[in-house]
Amino acid sequence: MEYLIKNTVIYNSDKTVKADIYIKDGKIEKIGENLSYENATVVDGSKKIALPGLCDIHCHLRDPGYEYKEDIISGAKSAAAGGFTSIVAMPNTKPVADNKAVIDYINNKAKNACVNVYQAGAITKGLEGKELAEIGEMKKSGIVAVTDDGKPVSDGSMMKKALLYAGMFDLPVIAHEEDMSLVDGGSMNEGYMSTYLGLRGISKAAEEVMVSRDIIIAKSLSEKVHITHISTKGSVELIRQAKKDGVKVTCDTCPHYFSLDETACDGFNTNAKMNPPLRTNEDVEAIIEGLRDGTIDMIATDHAPHHEDEKNCEFDKALNGIIGFETAFALAYDYLVTKNGFSLNKIVELMSRNPSDFIKIEGGEIAEGKVADLILADVENKWTYEAEKSVSKSKNTPYNKFTFGARVTDVFVKGNYIVENCNVKG
Ligand SMILES: [Zn+2]
Repeated sequence: MEYLIKNTVIYNSDKTVKADIYIKDGKIEKIGENLSYENATVVDGSKKIALPGLCDIHCHLRDPGYEYKEDIISGAKSAAAGGFTSIVAMPNTKPVADNKAVIDYINNKAKNACVNVYQAGAITKGLEGKELAEIGEMKKSGIVAVTDDGKPVSDGSMMKKALLYAGMFDLPVIAHEEDMSLVDGGSMNEGYMSTYLGLRGISKAAEEVMVSRDIIIAKSLSEKVHITHISTKGSVELIRQAKKDGVKVTCDTCPHYFSLDETACDGFNTNAKMNPPLRTNEDVEAIIEGLRDGTIDMIATDHAPHHEDEKNCEFDKALNGIIGFETAFALAYDYLVTKNGFSLNKIVELMSRNPSDFIKIEGGEIAEGKVADLILADVENKWTYEAEKSVSKSKNTPYNKFTFGARVTDVFVKGNYIVENCNVKG
């Protein structure tokens, strides 16, 4: 199929141009003014903006093993609805994605997904932290990173081995940072709100101790480390300083850490329970500054679907996490662009360019000759997000009924028109 997007404004990470985009054979064939092609289906882009497809390096598709929460096909549709054209699934599935057989199963199923689904392999077998997984074998099957996400790699010598070994395969190590002895059974941020609600708190130190440890290990080895879903002011400061010192550290945060604080847990709202927990307003401000000054390299969703029954229970028993694909761009637009003066180019850098480069895939740019992974968004009309209408199998979100100023309306993946006027064709 051929498509011609007319009269749109294209935002790349480094520039903005008004033009038409001609898509043919899965590629962006031509960008220019007053383009006309006989066989192309015309898409009116005049009231919309065009961005490179978003790339999420951290999501949970729950497949294999927990398909009642999500599966690769439904997760991909939810990603598409939010403008993500490439996503990286975490390996905490059942069985754990720690060997070639599971990776091959996922890759095979992902062939029928409507977006590009990539897989991260486990660092350690069974995510148990004791023995390295078959990283080399999984690399041959196409994994793009390794991580024990959901759990920390508690043993420092294991993290050292992981950085060295994954480094040999040029695979990024994504570190979920949590000192379990400091978490100590907590279920939300430790502070005023946890005291008020009578819940056991998780100190910021639980995250920051591990962030420091991994910065120091990476520095000692001259290896790279990527720290995922940072949530505290202290983590931002540690990483900012480490970058100044030349440590090869990168990091991401999630939309909830720049849009919500611990007060969202009031009323024992389990849809605001996540790991790391929502922090304080001071942390939110520091996360935004970290995104602004480049300390934080990218935004990831940590899309974490759970069944209603796993959230409809006492706060400390509820599972951690929220769905995130379909609100991520809207949150970035409202909380970073509108409220904090970020440019849309910066959003492209944080949500498309940098994550695409991080996992070394094509994309992250609307340019002639590049893969036609791109989206259109409406930034002129408000819309109200309704969790019930979410494309994900799960509905666990703290943003139900939020009204947003921007919405992804159209999505192209490899030149296929998979979301048209907010309808996921999949
Ligand atoms: Zn995690």
